[in-house]
Amino acid sequence: MNPINHGTNAGYHQHRRYGVPTCAECKAASNEYDKLYGRASSRALRRLRDLHPDEYKRAFFEELTIAREELGRQL
Ligand SMILES: [Zn+2]
Repeated sequence: MNPINHGTNAGYHQHRRYGVPTCAECKAASNEYDKLYGRASSRALRRLRDLHPDEYKRAFFEELTIAREELGRQL
């Protein structure tokens, strides 16, 4: 078991893996990482949507159908 690298996203995951309650520094680093990752991901998706609108629409409606089925199973 490596020592927890506090204040980093990796440290946050070490907390989770080791079952140690998360410290504020690691939680903050994880939030920043998620924000950065989410922002880059939506920008990349927007670019792909603009480059390949027909494929995007097809994939979107396929995923919408799957999501509806999943939600329907939960209800
Ligand atoms: Zn920590």
